[in-house]
Parts: sequence; structure tokens; C-alpha cells
Amino acid sequence: MSDVQTPTERLYAIVEQGLCIGCGLCQSVAGKDRVRVTKTLNGYLAPVVEAELDDETVDRIYAVCPGTRIEGLPERLVEGDTHQDNVWGPWRRMVRAWAGDPEIRFEGSTGGVLTALGVYLLESKRVDFILHVKTSSTEPSFGERALSFSEADVIEAAGSRYGPAAPLNNIGEVLDRNQPFAFIGKPCDISALRNYAKQDERVDKLVKYWLTLVCGGYGTPQGTIAFYKRMGIVPDQVTGLRYRGRGCPGPTRVETGNKAQEFHYIDYWGEDETTWQLPFRCKICPDAIGEAADVAALDTWVGGSPTREGSVDDPGTNAIIARTVAGEELIAAAAADGALTLEYDIVPDTVSVYQPHQVNKKYAAWARHQGLKDAGRIVPQTERLRIAELAQELPDASNQFQREGTRKRIEIGKATEPTPETWKP
Ligand SMILES: Cc1cc2nc3c(=O)[nH]c(=O)nc-3n(C[C@H](O)[C@H](O)[C@H](O)COP(=O)(O)OP(=O)(O)OC[C@H]3O[C@@H](n4cnc5c(N)ncnc54)[C@H](O)[C@@H]3O)c2cc1C
Ligand code: SF4
Ligand code: SF4
Repeated sequence: MSDVQTPTERLYAIVEQGLCIGCGLCQSVAGKDRVRVTKTLNGYLAPVVEAELDDETVDRIYAVCPGTRIEGLPERLVEGDTHQDNVWGPWRRMVRAWAGDPEIRFEGSTGGVLTALGVYLLESKRVDFILHVKTSSTEPSFGERALSFSEADVIEAAGSRYGPAAPLNNIGEVLDRNQPFAFIGKPCDISALRNYAKQDERVDKLVKYWLTLVCGGYGTPQGTIAFYKRMGIVPDQVTGLRYRGRGCPGPTRVETGNKAQEFHYIDYWGEDETTWQLPFRCKICPDAIGEAADVAALDTWVGGSPTREGSVDDPGTNAIIARTVAGEELIAAAAADGALTLEYDIVPDTVSVYQPHQVNKKYAAWARHQGLKDAGRIVPQTERLRIAELAQELPDASNQFQREGTRKRIEIGKATEPTPETWKP
């Protein structure tokens, strides 16, 4: 048998090696008659090949897929007076904030900052619409791509969607509108669209603002099913799932027909980082902090998780990292307009206190990628993310531990997914 992979095998290798996050971009690159990003047998969104692929198309996918290429902020956007933090990347301002409108603050995942910025961008006519993610109309635990043209649309999409979502599954159609827009997505979605900007010049012309959330990783389908079962809910009977929002973090609300039950964020995720069930790609993520965005918004829980007592009646406060001149200007203009309320400025060390898990992951990324290399796996290409420099700050034993841990994970099959096949109910 030949060792040469077919184009289809090469695309599937991204999925099989646990590097696909289901962003949808390969569908846009190949065309949906050839590649469809859809729910697959293991419950994730992933590409399924519908018609013959060629190597040139798969090369173009490898150049944009956030499983295979992740880059920091484009150099042209890093001004001479931009601060550089080795963990937190380029930044111009870090500030605690919440949405000026109490309704938006309430509806939002944390303090409603991203929703408030989306609404402000529309109302100030800086953009014509927002490309982001709202609750899926077909899969209660998923997100689905949304184009929001009004305040009501943006608010409807407020709140984190922890399940799979494919905001980039039809980016060609979005760009064909030839209208200025803002993109809100996870850091890996931002990486994907930044990569795609090198293949389609309309991206840099039309995407006026890049907004993201700092991301601990998305919830696995298996983790969500285990949560339902722990709570005594029959997974097949679930008709609606709101992970958080309506307070901070707000209730995790599960609907089964006419019945709704509310749980705590901790019931879904567990007490702390050690209990989070994450896809493999999230464990080796070299940029979960949104380095390529203008603005990143995050939670401000000390230690990275809420407590049950502390989250009663918490109205929500975000931290914001403005990385570019455009992001910094947007925050100031939104605050001057009343769309945002700024509390006080903070520094990278403050953000590390809110997000110790991000600091750990950033330091571990390079050694984990070495573990991929040792196992003969695809190693994501990274640029401007400082992961090798960070690893050099650690003792050799610590890097060795991470490297070996990843290799072992692969060896025992914990980093392998089946060849994607369309989900059959
Ligand atoms: C998978 C995931 C993991 C996260 N992990 C962390 C973490 O480790 N630390 C932390 O501080 N914060 C984390 N967050 C972010 C946090 O939950 C808040 O989203 C963030 O603080 C912004 O709050 P907000 O009130 O401004 O958001 P909102 O005003 O509620 O706006 C949220 C925006 O994000 C978009 N969105 C929601 N879900 C998705 C998705 N799955 N894919 C793409 N876009 C989406 C929505 O369309 C909306 O525009 C995570 C969010 C997600 C989705
Ligand atoms: S991460 Fe996105 S581009 Fe890469 S294979 Fe998955 S859906 Fe396709
Ligand atoms: S941890 Fe990284 S790969 Fe996982 S969802 Fe977040 S940004 Fe994407």
C-alpha cells in the first residue's frame, strides 16, 4: 500500500489527529459541493468530503485551517508604542468594563462588553453587520453562524456557546455582500479568518473590527451529554440549552419540551480547570487569548472560575485587552458614547490573576507541540506567538513533562478521532 496520502486523507488527517475545531472554513475554501462541515458520528462539527478533492485545494485548506496554522497579530498592526507582554501578547490598554446598557450587561455572558461593542458598531454606522455565533436552531448544544443587522439581532446572540460552532462555513457569501462588517469569534476563528485574508483580499477590506473572547476551550459533545446525565436529563429530550448569561455567569438553562431546569456553571464545567473536558486541539492551543484580534474580552473571576456563593447577583465585569490602535479607539469611543462603562485600568499581571489557566497553557504549548512532533503528528505552524521563548523560561524537566504527556496521550488514543462521517440520528 502506498504511503502517499490522497487529498481527502490529508484533509481527514486534521480531524483524525484532533486538530479540527469545526470552524467551517474548509467548506468555504473547497465549496460546499465538495466539503461539508457538519455534525459527525462523534458529535463534533467536522468536514465530510462530498466530491473529489485535489491537492491544490487541500494545500489552500492547510494554509488557512486553525488546526494547522495559527499566527499572532499581523505585524503591520503592532505600533511602536504597543506594549508586548510575553504571555499576554501585544496590548495598548487593559481595562475592567461592562456594557453601559443594563439589559445588555444582564444578557451578556460576563458583562456584555462584546454585545455592547457589536451594538455600538452598528448604531455608529461603523459597520453594516456583525458576523458571529448564536444558538443553533437545530442542535441545542451547538452555536450557528449569525449575521446581525440590528441591536435585537446582536442581543439575541449574546452569551457564550460552549458547544461546536462554524462561523466561517460560508465566508464567501458574507464577503460577496461587499459591506463593511465586524467579526466576533473564538481566538481560533479569528486565526482562521486572518489566515484566509492572505487568500482573499476582500477580508482586510471589509472586516473593520476583529473582536474575540479569551477562551479556555470549548465543551466536548461527550462532556455535555455527561452533564445532562449527571443532572438526570435524558440527552435526546433536550430542546434548548443556554450555557450562561443573564447574570454572571448566570444559570445554565436546559429545556426539555415545556420544562426548563436551571443549573450552575460549575455543574457544567466542574469546580476548576482540572475538571474541564476539552477537545485535544484546545489542550495544545498556542493562542487561546485572541492575539490576532483588535479587542479580546474575558472574565474577571480570581483564579479563573466562579464560586457558587460569589456568583449570586453578580452583574458581571469583563476585562478588556485592546491590542490595536483600532481596538483602543473603539473602546474609548464606545465609553464616550455610554455604550461601555469603564471601571479602572489593569495590567498583564492582573489578567494573569483572572486567568491562571491561560498562563499555564501558553507556557505549555511549545512542549506539547514537540510531543506532537515526536509522535509523527501534524505540528501546527505558529508565528508571532512566542511559545518557544516562553518554554525557555521553564526548567527542562517541566518542558519534558509536557512533551512526554502529549506523546503518551497520543499513544493511548486520547488524541485521535475517527474518520469523519455524517451524523445519523
Ligand atoms: C468556548 C468558550 C470558552 C471560553 N473560555 C473562557 C475563559 O477561559 N476565560 C474567560 O475569561 N472567558 C472565556 N470565555 C468567554 C466568556 O464566556 C465571555 O464570552 C467573555 O468574557 C465575553 O463576555 P461578554 O459578556 O462580553 O460576551 P457577550 O456580550 O455575551 O458576547 C459573546 C459573543 O461571543 C460570541 N460567541 C459566543 N459563543 C461563541 C462561539 N462558540 N464561537 C464564536 N463566537 C461565540 C457571541 O456571538 C457573542 O457575540 C469563553 C467563551 C467561549 C465561547
Ligand atoms: S478547523 Fe476549520 S478549516 Fe480546519 S478542518 Fe476543521 S472545519 Fe476545516
Ligand atoms: S482553546 Fe483554542 S482551539 Fe480551543 S476553542 Fe479556544 S481558541 Fe479555539
